[in-house]
Amino acid sequence: MVDYIGTARLRELVSLIGPARFIEALAGEIDADYRRWHEFEKSARLASHSAAGVIELMPTSDGKLYSFKYVNGHPKNTAVGLLTVTAFGVLADVATGYPLLLSEMTFVTALRTAAISALVAGRMARPASRVMALIGNGAQSEFQAIAFHRLAGVRELRLYDADPHATAKLVRNLTRLQISDLAVTRCASTMEAVRGADIVTTVTADKCNATILTPDMIEPGMHLNAVGGDCPGKTELHADILRSKDVRIVVEFEPQARIEGEIQQLGGSGQVIELADMLLTRQAARSNDREVTIFDSVGFALNDFSALRYLHRLNAEHPDGGQRIDLIPEPDDPKDLFAGLAHDRVPARRRRFA
Ligand code: NAD
Repeated sequence: MVDYIGTARLRELVSLIGPARFIEALAGEIDADYRRWHEFEKSARLASHSAAGVIELMPTSDGKLYSFKYVNGHPKNTAVGLLTVTAFGVLADVATGYPLLLSEMTFVTALRTAAISALVAGRMARPASRVMALIGNGAQSEFQAIAFHRLAGVRELRLYDADPHATAKLVRNLTRLQISDLAVTRCASTMEAVRGADIVTTVTADKCNATILTPDMIEPGMHLNAVGGDCPGKTELHADILRSKDVRIVVEFEPQARIEGEIQQLGGSGQVIELADMLLTRQAARSNDREVTIFDSVGFALNDFSALRYLHRLNAEHPDGGQRIDLIPEPDDPKDLFAGLAHDRVPARRRRFA
């Protein structure tokens, strides 16, 4: 039997400790795993592109555990009532190849993306950073807001989305959370939202080379958390921001970021730093208070590995409500798989519905 975490169980597990503490714990797991970067098998994810979006497979392993995530990105989905990003994933035992956990990862992707965004900002943004512009107020945005409040010291959010309903939804959800020391302001444009901000998070969805941020919006010392550009031909920052001499760009895994990140616009040139090197202090997070720092986030398989392993542990620590599914046959004789297909092997309870 394989452990199973569906959306209902995920909700239950997150509510045990609350989303902010959950994100904090995930950030700790991700941080620890990036510090043993050399132990992981790494490859750019396998992407299947269509006119509407992309479907991707993201595998990695540390030699003991293996994980993969299936994830899609379809920016026009929301117009027909569907999510832009959905995902599920598997954690498996390398010694036997048997899956240990099958889990929903739509919520998990939002949680782990927020965790790594805030983890990186906590190191790259100027220490007194308090104000964050949040551009793109869709499915990911609450998670980003919670993470930056919890982990990066953000106390004021300045919101903008091309769709005012998305911003209204974000304000409503943040109000319900009753975070007393978080001020939230709605802005009329990206320009208005980013003016004077310490941190700018862009988490928009459009299958194009968008220019959500242009060089005239960038102020010395800003930290940019660029989340929404994560596919070939799908970016958020004007290329001149990346080409400026006073920027420091951090990526998760350079070969994947060169294909999918903002830096795809640099055509292989320009210096970037891998997150592991920054966490292991082989590279500085920022050299001075005027430098513009950028986290060119695309989402790497290791983030999901850390999240699945954490979830698997949490699930085991709280067995009430946990579920297991018969994903893998369990024949009495492993060489007699065929016997497992026999009708009389099906448990009586299920035979009635067969
Ligand atoms: P979503 O569709 O729910 O929300 C996106 C929002 O962006 C929408 O409300 C839309 O109105 C807004 N938007 C689009 N163009 C805009 C513009 N020009 N100016 C202002 N707002 C604009 O999508 P989501 O699930 O929140 O995901 C957002 C993006 O983040 C997607 O592109 C997704 O692929 C990406 N993503 C990246 C990672 C990562 O690890 N880097 C993880 C998850 C999602």
